[in-house]
Amino acid sequence: MPYSGIHLDPVPQNVSAYTWLFDARDARHGTPIAHSRNGIRDAQTGRHLPYRELAVQTMHAATALTSLHGLKPQQTVAILASNSINYKVALFAAEHVGAIVTVLPSAALAQDITHYLSASSAQIVFYDRGTAAEVAKAWTGPAGSQPPYKLFSLDGSPCGSGGTAPYTLEQLVTEGETRGSEAQVPAWRVPTGQSNKTICAFLAFSSGTTGRPKAVMISHHNIIAQMMQVRLIVPDHPGPMLGILPFYHITGLLQLIHLPVMMDQELVLMAQFDMPSMLEAVVKYRCEELWLVPPLLIRMVSDDIVQKYKIDFIRQFNTGAAPLPPQIIEKLAVMYPHVALRQAWGMTESCSCLTLTPPGLATYANAAMVGKPVPGTDIKIVNVATGEEAALGEEGELWARGPQVTMGYLNAPEETRKTYTPDGYLRTGDLGTVHPDGFVAIHDRIKEMIKVRGHGVAPAELEDALLGHAKVADAAVIGIPHDYSGEVPRAYVVTVSGVPHSEATAHELEQHIESLKARYMRLAGGVEFVDAIPKSAAGKILRKMLRAQYAEKVKT
Ligand code: ATP
Ligand code: MG
Repeated sequence: MPYSGIHLDPVPQNVSAYTWLFDARDARHGTPIAHSRNGIRDAQTGRHLPYRELAVQTMHAATALTSLHGLKPQQTVAILASNSINYKVALFAAEHVGAIVTVLPSAALAQDITHYLSASSAQIVFYDRGTAAEVAKAWTGPAGSQPPYKLFSLDGSPCGSGGTAPYTLEQLVTEGETRGSEAQVPAWRVPTGQSNKTICAFLAFSSGTTGRPKAVMISHHNIIAQMMQVRLIVPDHPGPMLGILPFYHITGLLQLIHLPVMMDQELVLMAQFDMPSMLEAVVKYRCEELWLVPPLLIRMVSDDIVQKYKIDFIRQFNTGAAPLPPQIIEKLAVMYPHVALRQAWGMTESCSCLTLTPPGLATYANAAMVGKPVPGTDIKIVNVATGEEAALGEEGELWARGPQVTMGYLNAPEETRKTYTPDGYLRTGDLGTVHPDGFVAIHDRIKEMIKVRGHGVAPAELEDALLGHAKVADAAVIGIPHDYSGEVPRAYVVTVSGVPHSEATAHELEQHIESLKARYMRLAGGVEFVDAIPKSAAGKILRKMLRAQYAEKVKT
């Protein structure tokens, strides 16, 4: 039997995500936008846009996009930019029109951008200073020819060397406004007789941790469902939140773009991350809640700069996207005893959260688990070897079903069939357990498991053990090919300052693992010292990169 989250009222099927968020929600779900008192703040520029004003600007931009630039429902708008207030305005404007919004990684290179824009048939592309150069290179048509999409700058930066002033989001807003209220385009509605379950609202890309990123089709239904689910388990009237995650990642798209508007929660954003600016923003805007990822929580316990700031008003850390090592949880508990730690587990394919730590249970004692299934979500455990459903408490692949489970991958029916079952389950690819009380623990990804003489070794388990050593600041483990064992674990280690990168230190760490773990888990692939562990913007260890580096190294 799957474990089921608490009851969720039926998710409406006849309304768009935009209309539900800005107009149609009832009092149980959020503050009417007209009564909203909060908004979004850019910590770097200081600019603040109240949500009431956001709704107005969005409407003007949507009007201009439709009436002057010919954008139609179900056409595609791509956004390639760092987090900013204008990102949010552009995204909601496109959502208002009923377009499919493709959110692309801001670090994407020209070749990938070319692929993404043509695969999603983009009509409109929003870019900013940081992405302009790659966006310009991404158009590979004959010299002097125009791409099949229109370019709009979010921050006034030009794109390419044409010398012409860029067309900006601000211009769109002004154009929409000057057309007057009679010309205003109403928000797109779900056509009568159709269900929002089958209408795509967003295309978001999985992180590409295990291969090439996959384009996931997210419906209007998924977005509304996820907002209703999270709303039911978070407290009312949350204080200001600082969000570091990129908007294009599924967590950013849901928990930073959509949810704060519904909760009327002040959101403080940062386009670029560095520790001092983040801490200054936390103090200046009195952020009580911080949406971080494991690498940033590691910084919160290991970076001395934290001591310079008085941040005892922080009430909650949120984390997700990657495992949080138990050693870090222990240190957080010592340094921030009054802060609640909330885990979220989910993926792009599940439109953000499948599980969340319920507020009353967000203690450090529970922080090694990723919370309980969100309302309306079933999770079952499937034995990886037999394919049979396993009992609660046993380990297996976690399969999840709920209204937030997305429509599938774009133009990839085979992949979609492998991942989404006919009875509505999403095969998450994550190995874990569901305890009888509903708490879910993630052990590792099936694809990352190292196979040593038939034994599965979870890299996360060895990384946790390494982090428990006083000389280790950060660590990553991969499997490398081995003639006899098939694969063996190899560690990449960042030491705390002053520790020699010597054979003696490597040997000490190997001994440490041998003293704690079964013999087949020992670091037979060796230990390599590095300055930093490669991680994605969402905080995931890029093991793929370490494996490629290793392959390169043994070749030469
Ligand atoms: P790809 O599917 O392209 O290889 P990805 O799975 O990393 O990349 P995302 O959708 O961004 O892309 O991430 C989802 C994955 O992140 C989950 O399947 C899980 O492995 C991991 N994850 C998410 N939240 C947590 C968490 N709280 N603890 C541990 N792992 C998590
Ligand atoms: Mg994935």
